[in-house]
Amino acid sequence: GRGGVADYLSGLNPEQRDAVETLDGPLLVLAGAGTGKTRVLTTRIAHILASRRAHPSEILAVTFTNKAAREMKMRVANLVGDVAEGMPWLGTFHSIGTRILRRHAELAGLKSSFTILDTDDQIRLIKQILQAENIDEKRWPARSLAWTIDGWKNRGLGPAEIPAGEGASFANGKGGKLYTLYQERLKTLNAADFGDLLLEPIRIFRAHPDVLAIYHHRFRFLLVDEYQDTNVAQYLWLRLLAQGPQNLCCVGDDDQSIYGWRGAEVDNILRFDKDFPGAKVIRLERNYRSDAHILGAASHLIAHNEGRLGKTLRPQGADGEPVTVTGSWDSGEEARSIGDEIESLERKGESLDSMAILMRASFQMREFEERFVTLGLNYRVIGGPRFYERAEIRDALAYLRCVNSPFDGLAFERIVNTPKRGLGDATIQTLNHIARSANVPLMEAARMASDSEELKPKPRQTLRDLTGCFQRWSRQAETMKHTDLAEMVLDESGYTEMWRQDRSPDAAGRLENLKELIRSMDGFENLQGFLEHVSLVMDVEGPNNGAAVTLMTLHGAKGLEFDTVFLPGWEEGLFPSQRSMDENGRAGLEEERRLAYVGITRARKRAKIYFASNRRIHGMWQSSIPSRFLDELPDAHVEVKEAPAAFSNRGYGTSRFDRVEPFGSTYNTPGWQRAQARRETHAGFAEPKRSGLSSGPGRRGGPMVIEGELVATSDA
Ligand code: ATP
Ligand code: MG
Repeated sequence: GRGGVADYLSGLNPEQRDAVETLDGPLLVLAGAGTGKTRVLTTRIAHILASRRAHPSEILAVTFTNKAAREMKMRVANLVGDVAEGMPWLGTFHSIGTRILRRHAELAGLKSSFTILDTDDQIRLIKQILQAENIDEKRWPARSLAWTIDGWKNRGLGPAEIPAGEGASFANGKGGKLYTLYQERLKTLNAADFGDLLLEPIRIFRAHPDVLAIYHHRFRFLLVDEYQDTNVAQYLWLRLLAQGPQNLCCVGDDDQSIYGWRGAEVDNILRFDKDFPGAKVIRLERNYRSDAHILGAASHLIAHNEGRLGKTLRPQGADGEPVTVTGSWDSGEEARSIGDEIESLERKGESLDSMAILMRASFQMREFEERFVTLGLNYRVIGGPRFYERAEIRDALAYLRCVNSPFDGLAFERIVNTPKRGLGDATIQTLNHIARSANVPLMEAARMASDSEELKPKPRQTLRDLTGCFQRWSRQAETMKHTDLAEMVLDESGYTEMWRQDRSPDAAGRLENLKELIRSMDGFENLQGFLEHVSLVMDVEGPNNGAAVTLMTLHGAKGLEFDTVFLPGWEEGLFPSQRSMDENGRAGLEEERRLAYVGITRARKRAKIYFASNRRIHGMWQSSIPSRFLDELPDAHVEVKEAPAAFSNRGYGTSRFDRVEPFGSTYNTPGWQRAQARRETHAGFAEPKRSGLSSGPGRRGGPMVIEGELVATSDA
């Protein structure tokens, strides 16, 4: 700084500055969207370093996504320059949990090279357990057990800790036992799932105060972004770590709690000052992100929720453009009209980088991808179907995982017969049997089988060759550069050759992807670092060639901002999601509304909402009615766009959405009754200030239904 106030402090308002400068004791910054909470966190790190209160390595900062962690690293680096004494520990709960667990893996019965299972691996493993236990998978699907176990882990519960009765809910009382078996299998495989990355450190901290003391000593300052979305396990983990230095700063917004369905507890933020006695609470009220119309629309919408603290948000910018609402005939037309709008903004000089389409469900994405391919518009998908989830990439990763850890049985099973090596299902079963009875990893079982009489000579030879290769590759891994190693493994295993021989039209693309995979490894120091990155990364960006529109889900967009935000699919059943309301009633609806609030408040200059009257869901055309959230937007901040000419020559009623009604009064059709029935399932929520669509049949502007070729007669 020059003389008085340091540069990095001068851009802050007085409340933000208070939050940055209050370094001692617990602090909560509770404030609405776009008020600079994340900016406070980054500046706080800069301030801690500049005032020499701690070395970088004595700071722990938790973000909600890897993307947010990367951005924060960049912001900190910009503020303080490259610091010689290392960087703060800065990452998601999962990535920091991994780092801690690797250091003390042996205390959790793991080796420090443990593999992190993704959902796919997890389900494959659970399937094996269900089969071994003779449990009917049709009645008790692996997916549902995986979900249940995740739920327990999110609540910080190990197999011994699940409340009486809860284990009974799966497979006639076997839930608890299956959870135990699952944990045992993970240990044998030297693997951890996502839940373990926090649960195991919590256990270690509790059982080994000396280990916890290391971290108390080390982390003098703790910072947490998006605190409203922490679950019980994350909360427990944090509380253990914060017991030492007490310099904990959490920032969050109860109105943006959108992960309740995954175990997040908004209560964590509401009772912060009880958990951390003497906590100071600072509120921020100035919103620097969105123009006034956008903020007005979002604030009015969220006011329909009952369970909230309530906050003032004051816009700092101009009125800007009203939020627009555009109706379309169907989802295809919706994609076309968004595509047109993007091109028109681009012609006016707006960069594609400043635009995003945020959707409620990932299936909505495909329609936009197809449209953009047609238009030649550059786009990137964040989250959703990802690069690392493609089959050829998963296969290649499985090879590398086996090289990295011979204990990784799931990876070995994936590639033992890929490419085809003439090993049938029976052989694989035999291997699994040997592995279980001798309690050895699958690869070791394969090596044993190659010497035993249990198999025919041909498969024995095949297994001998394959396990021999893996032994050699693992040795070479110690000296070779990891990218060269990867290329060699894929060549020598015959995997690359398999795609070269493949005649299908996508084979060339797959070979491209494999090359891209090896290219992407270059940014990592070694194989293990790379594999870790892959398992943790939830928001991978595609190949980045210049400016591109961002496509992502609303859930993934938390914390981000764009000049223009497109919000398609605002229809009853899709948004708010029927499932969320069916499962959680009023609480589910309120969480959906918070998601709508998150969506609108991502926009700096333009928020554009869309709904379609017909949408294909699971391959079936369904008619839909506009989302109730549209009725909850204030007239003063909203502009309703005309529907496409062909459909807009109807009467205008009192609801602003009458004018986009694309068809006549077909109220008393079976289709209408279905829509009405669906609507009535939410009627019990006694929503405030609902207008327009809530009234009964015969009223103009009632639910929109058409009968015709596009409409499926089934509600499936
Ligand atoms: P969210 O709740 O969506 O995560 P947030 O509260 O974390 O939002 P930030 O992302 O930190 O908000 O800030 C929103 C925008 O406002 C950013 O572009 C940020 O740079 C800007 N901003 C924050 N504080 C100020 C300030 N004092 N002066 C000018 N711009 C600011
Ligand atoms: Mg933020």
